Amino acid sequence: VSSLRADLEAAACIGADERGGVSRFAWTRELAQANAWLMERLSELGLTAELDPAGNVLGRWESGKGTAVLLGSHLDTVPNGGRFDGALGVLAALDVVRRLRAEGVEPRRPVWIASFNDEEGARFQTGMLGSRAFCGECDLEDWGGRGIPEAMAEAGLDFARLAGARRVDEVGAYLELHIEQGPVLERSGADLGVVTAITGMLGFRARFVGEANHAGTTPMEHRRDALAGGARTVLALRDAARERGDMTANVGVISAEPGGFNVVPGAAELTVDVRSPSPETYAALEPLVRETLSAIAAEEGLGLELAETHRKPPVALDPGLQDALEAAARDEGATTLRMPSGAGHDAMVLAHHVPAGMLFVPSRGGVSHSPAEFTSAEHCELGARVLARAVRALLG
Ligand SMILES: [Zn+2]
Repeated sequence: VSSLRADLEAAACIGADERGGVSRFAWTRELAQANAWLMERLSELGLTAELDPAGNVLGRWESGKGTAVLLGSHLDTVPNGGRFDGALGVLAALDVVRRLRAEGVEPRRPVWIASFNDEEGARFQTGMLGSRAFCGECDLEDWGGRGIPEAMAEAGLDFARLAGARRVDEVGAYLELHIEQGPVLERSGADLGVVTAITGMLGFRARFVGEANHAGTTPMEHRRDALAGGARTVLALRDAARERGDMTANVGVISAEPGGFNVVPGAAELTVDVRSPSPETYAALEPLVRETLSAIAAEEGLGLELAETHRKPPVALDPGLQDALEAAARDEGATTLRMPSGAGHDAMVLAHHVPAGMLFVPSRGGVSHSPAEFTSAEHCELGARVLARAVRALLG
């Protein structure tokens, strides 16, 4: 059993839940245990290990001079999550350092490992809090109102010191190995994915307002059925996304009021999430949603309220690091596919500050955020070897 495989097994036991998955959330005992375990591994490898003011675990191999090559990902999970999402990237980073140590490499610049806190944002609906704090993007006003200061205090950390987590200025490049979390790579047959960009996301809460009335006595042509507006939205956005090709559209929550089998829905509320990795398509998403829903409302005789809930533009990853990862893969005899990421990652935060690169390994059946999440040991190890090669190239 390889060290990486053993580490994956060990980490999966920390926060293992009764439904066969892993549940580790920011500032909980489970994540603290995983962090302590990681800090021990970092110390064994001779790295300076610390928990920073945001709850990120940082391992620093201070060697040579200049800015650090940072390898990272996250150890927090979604509720009942899998054992690979995030953990693989952190443990592969450990594996890279282990390899460099075994080869007696003396890096010409520092090599750092980060396990970013709260990437999933499962506990407080935040997301990427650790990497954002590391990059100096603290949203203290928002974070302060969600119970985060109290949770941090319980974990022995001080919310007032969050801004002290900023270390990105000491970093020169960021690399992250991650599972794809989708089916594209597995279906392509390529061994590894070199990520070109991380998809941009835009979200709305929409509310159609019609007229609640008797389901039996109101003639069909006289109804103002708000849920019909919602249903048409689901299909119209789906068809627009299929036609365009480089975007996704999802209505994940829908509800009707007052909610009776014999009442025409007087109001319907739904969430809309649209994404695209292409800057051009991303720019077209907001007009697409607004025009589509307005047209449906007009045709159905409904009122429409539309409120934005989230907006994250697409982020391009560094072309030089894409080339470096591709070359490293070729030297390991691995085939690659250049592809965008449909999910958000810490790399999208880092990429605004330093050149960032991401490498994907396939997810069996495209499944993630589930105990069924699986990537073969061969693919995990191949990913770690390619990452190590890419790091060696960056060390010169
Ligand atoms: Zn992840």
